[in-house]
Amino acid sequence: MAVRLLTKLKVLPDVRGSVNFSSKAAPATLSDFDVQHKTPVIRKQKLIPKAQYGGRHAVTMLPGGGIGPECMGYVRDIFKYIGAPIDFEVVDIDPTMDNDDDVQYAITTIKRNGVGLKGNIETKSEAAYVTSRNVALRNELDMYAYILNCKSYPGVATRHKDIDVVIIRQNTEGEYAMLEHESVNGVVESMKVVTADNSERVARFAFEFAKKNGRKKVTTVHKANIMKLSDGLFLETSRRLAKEYPDIEHNDMIIDNCCMQLVAKPHQFDVMLMTNLYGSIVSNVVCGLLGGAGLLSGRNYGDHYAVFEPGTRNTGTAIAGKNIANPIAMINASIDMLEHLGHQFHASLLRRAINKTINVDRVLTPDLGGSNTSTDVVGAILQNVGRC
Ligand code: ADP
Ligand code: MG
Repeated sequence: MAVRLLTKLKVLPDVRGSVNFSSKAAPATLSDFDVQHKTPVIRKQKLIPKAQYGGRHAVTMLPGGGIGPECMGYVRDIFKYIGAPIDFEVVDIDPTMDNDDDVQYAITTIKRNGVGLKGNIETKSEAAYVTSRNVALRNELDMYAYILNCKSYPGVATRHKDIDVVIIRQNTEGEYAMLEHESVNGVVESMKVVTADNSERVARFAFEFAKKNGRKKVTTVHKANIMKLSDGLFLETSRRLAKEYPDIEHNDMIIDNCCMQLVAKPHQFDVMLMTNLYGSIVSNVVCGLLGGAGLLSGRNYGDHYAVFEPGTRNTGTAIAGKNIANPIAMINASIDMLEHLGHQFHASLLRRAINKTINVDRVLTPDLGGSNTSTDVVGAILQNVGRC
């Protein structure tokens, strides 16, 4: 490992010295992955690329397992009905395979299209050398920030009303570094990797997000009282960046207390910033508060690529094929994608139709306390398109 790194480092001065910085100009020994991760100096592209042909956008679709394929079917029906100018390139990933050829192919198509829409991809193998597909995708595309918009739907009966929280999660390192080993028999060590660079990138992302979206406060969530170095660095970085944004209030909270505060008094939160695992747990807590796994959608962002998916990583395998899965989370993800690509008209058409379906017509699947089927919900959304 150390040797591999050194041979790669040797080529860096040449890259830096070259006149024309582009990934093409990089020596062949650097993969795209290396270019993104280790040589930010040649990360030239400011905007996330979009593959656009004749006014239509190409988007990679990864249906994933469980209820993913049926939900993607609904998205395609709806897009066809409203004439959304999107062409999907569908890539199926076989969860039972131990090799990652499918994932590599999926990554290649996302690199080409710039944008992806995905269900939850299962990794069935428990072998230590097989890494999670979801994690591999986020890491290799360097999508370092995950955003979950958590806004209450008035039509869904929940303990708390009017929650409006945004969770921003570091998405590529921390507890998900997947560096584990058995140092001696019976002793397993797992590394949590926190880097200054990634902490700064995601913290800046959070403050910029708050600024652009008129948000008032950013709360950094951590466990720096125990993990003084790793979480300490994350917290310290966000405190330092907060000084550059005097109009935005900044505070911090220990993860344990944060979970208690969320279920008891969620309205105190605005934008929340945290490392990878806390982000996953807190996302699930907030999704649970707002109506469960079938409602909200999340966005993975890097400097180059964006992938949209349901807000929690549940596959819903037990309810697949029964026409009872809530299709809204996946449809919301597809709307986020439309917005990202600049198709505001189609996006707001669908948002309004969903709001009316949930809040006024109250066509709800069993997870939201209703008795409607998935296809009833999709039918109601189609009915409401253009009528509200
Ligand atoms: P995991 O994939 O993490 O094992 P599950 O797939 O079992 O989790 O999902 C957790 C719970 O959320 C299950 O009760 C499942 O039925 C429910 N769930 C997940 N997605 C949806 C959905 N879209 N609509 C309704 N219920 C869902
Ligand atoms: Mg599952």
